Amino acid sequence: MLKILFIADVIGSPGREALRARLPGLKRGTGAHFTIVNAENSAGGFGVTREAAADLFASGADVLTGGNHLWDRKDSIAYIAEEPRLVRPANLPAGTPGHGTLVFRAADGTSIGVVNLLGRVFMKEADCPFRTADAAVESLRSQGVRVIVVDFHAETTAEKVAMGWHLDGRVSAVIGTHTHVQTADERVLPQGTACVSDAGMTGGFESVIGMDRGAALRRFLTLMPERLTPAEGDLRVNAVLVTVDPSTGRAAAIERIQLPHRSVSAGTVKLLTGDQPALSVRYAARAEVERLIAGGVMPTLALVSVGEDPASQIYLKKKSAACAEAGIAIRRVALAAGADTRAVVERVRALGADPDVHGILVQLPLGPQVNAQAVLESIPPARDVDGFHPENVGRLGLGLPCLMPCTPRGILELLRYHQVPLAGKHAVVLGRSPIVGRPLATLLSLKGLDCTVTIGHSASGPALRALAREADLLIAAIGRPEFVTGDWVKSGATVVDVGIHRVPDPTRRGGSRITGDVEFESVAAVAGALSPVPGGVGPMTVAMVVANTVLAAERQAGGVRV
Ligand code: NAP
Repeated sequence: MLKILFIADVIGSPGREALRARLPGLKRGTGAHFTIVNAENSAGGFGVTREAAADLFASGADVLTGGNHLWDRKDSIAYIAEEPRLVRPANLPAGTPGHGTLVFRAADGTSIGVVNLLGRVFMKEADCPFRTADAAVESLRSQGVRVIVVDFHAETTAEKVAMGWHLDGRVSAVIGTHTHVQTADERVLPQGTACVSDAGMTGGFESVIGMDRGAALRRFLTLMPERLTPAEGDLRVNAVLVTVDPSTGRAAAIERIQLPHRSVSAGTVKLLTGDQPALSVRYAARAEVERLIAGGVMPTLALVSVGEDPASQIYLKKKSAACAEAGIAIRRVALAAGADTRAVVERVRALGADPDVHGILVQLPLGPQVNAQAVLESIPPARDVDGFHPENVGRLGLGLPCLMPCTPRGILELLRYHQVPLAGKHAVVLGRSPIVGRPLATLLSLKGLDCTVTIGHSASGPALRALAREADLLIAAIGRPEFVTGDWVKSGATVVDVGIHRVPDPTRRGGSRITGDVEFESVAAVAGALSPVPGGVGPMTVAMVVANTVLAAERQAGGVRV
């Protein structure tokens, strides 16, 4: 399906700043093939200039649309006449510079007709927008263009809704602009035209429709003319995403987007850092280890791996170092790349039968030649410090004592340490892997933690973002860099970023940086609390390897804890 992103009226340099920062992530997150930006207020709040337009194109706009303010800058008329990626209102007298209807090609190759129209109710004179729309649609259809988007720049809701019905089945979308307040009436009409009365605005929201609120108020109170300037505070991007079948031009869905950029409360997000709670867990484990050693038990963890996967080597090194720091003995079993299921299972069974080994951790992945499930099932459940054995999985589901998987256990400890309330909260867990998402969702829903849990996954589709926005606690464990952006997050929500990725970044020494499944900046602008990457969940996972090994050793030594 074709995804068309429409960015609502960009107001001056604050709006352009928000767009520059947020549009690349928004395009990535939505998978947009084509981006239309309403630019009629993009230069100082009135009109468009060559420089403002260049900024918008550099941010990722494919085409700019206009409105009644497009002509506010007399020095830009020549630019409007010559810019082939700018569509000005079509219902203006013949001879007006520029083009009111143009055809573009989206990233997937689909031809898209873009039409810009002015309303006539409470607006300056213009030709009939309905009849102009008919002519534009007829002309585009005669050129074989099936996907058509109309930016209807109008004052009244009635005129915009009427245009939607007038064009239903003949265009893909009628998107209202001009009033700068996003309306909640988005829908796909029966014949397949997506409509919204107003897409909103991109700019400062501590304002009167994008302009400095002090000056705007004085104008109302005194009726004296006063110059308006674009507002700076609480920058946001408003947009709509339309999903269209490119073979018919019919819209399948329309979604409103509100993406925060610089909030008034930016910088107040609480960081759920993992270093301190991880240290506490390791410190407590060390005291237990000393007690066990004093009782004649040397807690020992066997770390099993196959081959030389570089990421696995890093994780093994971190786990070994943390265990050694706590006084746990390490038995390193490194099998050559290519070792088959039987060879790995035999080694694990031998470790399982060794009375001196208390914990066994098999570092995944093992390679395509190994049946990883068979290997995990060959670990005695009492020594399964990763908590992946079906017996531990089943006990976890029943809320019985067991060895829990390290990452979910670490996340619970992270939330406990930072005093994040859970009972009665709505938790949305993105990801359902047996390592992170599924056990965490199970744990959060158990009696005692008492969250109401929703699980999202790759088949959840576009509805997932709206579900995520309902979360008090949002867990991102999907394995996709910076997938979750600010528009996925309810204001004040707690967000836990489980993902860990190395992504290219030419601005950094070494040409790369570590990031999570969450786009830090935009989410930090809206969330109440957020776990950073690195330094959030990662240290907790490692600490829980230590804690689980101690727990397994205590149980096997007939210790106090069950
Ligand atoms: P995984 O086994 O690849 O599972 C990913 C899950 O995300 C799957 O359930 C998948 O759905 C879902 N998913 C993928 N794309 C999606 C999309 N576009 N929309 C919604 N859901 C989507 O990964 P994992 O082992 O759970 O790990 C997740 C991330 O956490 C990775 O980045 C991993 O490196 C990281 N991790 C970090 C730690 C740590 O200590 N910090 C520990 C473990 C993992 P389907 O089930 O439908 O395929």
